[in-house]
Amino acid sequence: MPETASAIVIGGGIVGTSIAHYLAAGGQSDVLLLERDSVADHATGKTGGLIRMHYTNPHDAALALRSRDVYAGWGDEIGGDAGFNNTGFLFIVGHADRARLEQNVKMLQGVGVDTTVIGPEDVLQMQPFFRVDDIGGAAYEPRGGYADGYLAATGMARRARELGVTVRQDTEVTAIEVAGGRVVAVQTADGRIEAPVICVAAGAWSARLALTAGVELPVGATRLFAGALERPPALPETHMTVIDRSIGTYFHPDTGATTMMGLGPAEVRERRPRVELDADDPAIPDDWLVAGAARMVRRIPAMAEAGWRRTWTEVDGITADGHMLLGETAEAQGLYVAAGMSGSGFKTGPAVGMCMAELMLEGAASTVDITPFRISRFDEGEEIPGEVVYQSRPPADLWGE
Ligand SMILES: Cc1cc2nc3c(=O)[nH]c(=O)nc-3n(C[C@H](O)[C@H](O)[C@H](O)COP(=O)(O)OP(=O)(O)OC[C@H]3O[C@@H](n4cnc5c(N)ncnc54)[C@H](O)[C@@H]3O)c2cc1C
Repeated sequence: MPETASAIVIGGGIVGTSIAHYLAAGGQSDVLLLERDSVADHATGKTGGLIRMHYTNPHDAALALRSRDVYAGWGDEIGGDAGFNNTGFLFIVGHADRARLEQNVKMLQGVGVDTTVIGPEDVLQMQPFFRVDDIGGAAYEPRGGYADGYLAATGMARRARELGVTVRQDTEVTAIEVAGGRVVAVQTADGRIEAPVICVAAGAWSARLALTAGVELPVGATRLFAGALERPPALPETHMTVIDRSIGTYFHPDTGATTMMGLGPAEVRERRPRVELDADDPAIPDDWLVAGAARMVRRIPAMAEAGWRRTWTEVDGITADGHMLLGETAEAQGLYVAAGMSGSGFKTGPAVGMCMAELMLEGAASTVDITPFRISRFDEGEEIPGEVVYQSRPPADLWGE
């Protein structure tokens, strides 16, 4: 007798654990989650963890807003702690982007996001140790902050198990089988497992896996770097969570007196748009370290005395428009995909899980309309546009153009 499941989710990051959890919470029995390594071993465990709603399109913002409630109410819904720290969040732009910021914040308020535009003097009042002369304005989100990727995915997996999901780690899916236009099974080193519903949530490895089913996904892999700086004694204990679009960086306070930081979209889209899995050099470039520290000093001059505590890197899936792929494949009925998180899929993970479970159980997502994220959008010329496109780029002396 072949082994069977009613639904198989492949990938134990925040996306796969969340989908498995919400499938079980939605009444699906006999769900199997397969993870090649350990839960949270890859992008999710290495995430910057920013929880913010500031996007330039309403679809991602709605997913982030719904997910933020889960992160903030984690103990009640999932149990335990995902390390959510409600520091408040600032999205900073340069002078040239002030009007665009105002337009975008209006759009976000329409989605229900608690956010307002504040000026450089307000930023200085909130964060007296910031340099603000180059700031045109900031979108302030009092409900933003950051959470812990490892705690979140392992917590989702634990709750999923409590609801009846089988979580099998150290189990790589080597192929997905399709017959007669329907998905039928996966193959693993331990054998074949049949299921009528299979979801690929394998992060950077999703395209490779989907190809075994004859499905070409428009998703590649990108490599992100991050680091933690030890704040000097001159700086206060903590600060807010920030994306600084004007200089292309993001940061949040971390354990002890450290500040976790990474570089912004220019790093992802322009410097390392695609990497070859297995052939990519994971060494952190020296000029990244120089630029990272210089950008922190530009915003927080006292950081000139900070030192690197540690750095890390990981790959994530990426699409051509920088937005995720969610939906059922056209080629194989019952084969679903939640991938291409494009360096930004932690904060939206819980709502993506809810929506994918609704799609798989009921035929359509009701929590948030996810049709804009459909896999076919690239063939249809319907990439997800930003309502505004911020012009700020990191200056040349900070590893920019
Ligand atoms: C340095 C860094 C900073 C980031 N900062 C932020 C941030 O501040 N905010 C934010 O929202 N996002 C951020 N992100 C992005 C975010 O972390 C990712 O988009 C998200 O975690 C992706 O989750 P995932 O579940 O899709 O992928 P992953 O966490 O990579 O999980 C995919 C899993 O699939 C498994 N897998 C792959 N192939 C197979 C197979 N054949 N069989 C079985 N299992 C398989 C892998 O082992 C892996 O565990 C950051 C990412 C990085 C790397």
